[in-house]
Amino acid sequence: MTENADRLSRRARETPPSGIRRFFELAEEMDDLVSLGVGEPDFSAPWAARAAAIDSLERGRTSYTANRGRRDLRERIAAHVTRYDLSYDPDDEILVSTGASEAVDLAMRALIDPGDAVAVPQPSYISYGPTVTFSGGEVVPVETHAENDFVLTYEDLERAGADEASILVLCYPNNPTGAVMTREELAEVAEFVREHDLFVLSDEIYAALRYEDEHVSIATLPGMRERTVVFNGFSKAYAMTGMRLGYALGPSEVIDAMNRIHQYTMLSAPTTAQFAAIEALDSCDGAVEEMRREFDRRRQFVISRFNEIGMDCFEAKGAFYVFPKCPPGWEDDEAFAEALIREERVALVPGRVFGDGGAGHLRVSYASSMGELKEALNRIESFVEDR
Ligand code: PMP
Repeated sequence: MTENADRLSRRARETPPSGIRRFFELAEEMDDLVSLGVGEPDFSAPWAARAAAIDSLERGRTSYTANRGRRDLRERIAAHVTRYDLSYDPDDEILVSTGASEAVDLAMRALIDPGDAVAVPQPSYISYGPTVTFSGGEVVPVETHAENDFVLTYEDLERAGADEASILVLCYPNNPTGAVMTREELAEVAEFVREHDLFVLSDEIYAALRYEDEHVSIATLPGMRERTVVFNGFSKAYAMTGMRLGYALGPSEVIDAMNRIHQYTMLSAPTTAQFAAIEALDSCDGAVEEMRREFDRRRQFVISRFNEIGMDCFEAKGAFYVFPKCPPGWEDDEAFAEALIREERVALVPGRVFGDGGAGHLRVSYASSMGELKEALNRIESFVEDR
């Protein structure tokens, strides 16, 4: 330990390294590794969006924007989300952020007082827990179950004591399971939320990546709009992860509070990315649809191969992840993932990284080329057969 270790805040010392990153350090020096580990599209952003970014730079548009983001972008976001039956005022109900990540953090900071409980379904995306903690809140884990294909139910919330919480986080389509929720399933959750007067933070960043039906936002259910902030962004659907652009939609008092924090910590979201995003919303529906179709083709291939190999894999209908079980004889997902990396040079993420509910499963991203997916599945098959 260096002498500066003592200077670190308790919060910094207690923040564990991301389970995903830690796992991938193992893989870093391997040649011939096939990684189905990272949650980002293997595509580049649509050319029109990149060209708009370049054009904005050529014109010297390199200043800050309004804190809430360019108004013409907020107008397009308002128009875009009507496809999910969402209606928000560009002036005071939309905030453009540095990735959906910043918006999630801002909402936590705007809504949590020290000691407040926040219900977080598990398995779930790894950022929610730490951002709750950074705001001084306490996570109430809510386990979802493989038998229900990891859909959140009224009973799950009851069993976890989520009625004690003031906030419920939702993430459907889900990272890491690929689970989606239908209107009827969301209605049950909404009932619980209204009964116990919770506020919902709904991360819908994978809304455009649904394969069998249309995305439904919980904010469209009766009595929910006024108690929900919806997050979305450009990273996943438009393959713009590195551009760092997302947004939040919600009641004006909450968006305003988030903006007050944002204006001191971030000032404004990246300007170049905002120009790319305007173009993405204006002209890239076709490109998104092409990527969605390709993801769907891979999704079907991956699910059927895992089931053939004997690794039980439910039919994930959204995002770009599947969540198969470890094969018979392997209980421990971390041991399986580690052996698979060492012996076959295939990287998957152990399910427990996403919370206890994920133990015994593996997160597999199919945001890799079909060639890589085929190779990875062949290696996994020979690994499982050799045991
Ligand atoms: N939410 C979920 C569920 C995600 O999977 C990710 C990215 N892995 C994010 C948010 C972060 O998105 P962004 O790049 O917009 O910050």
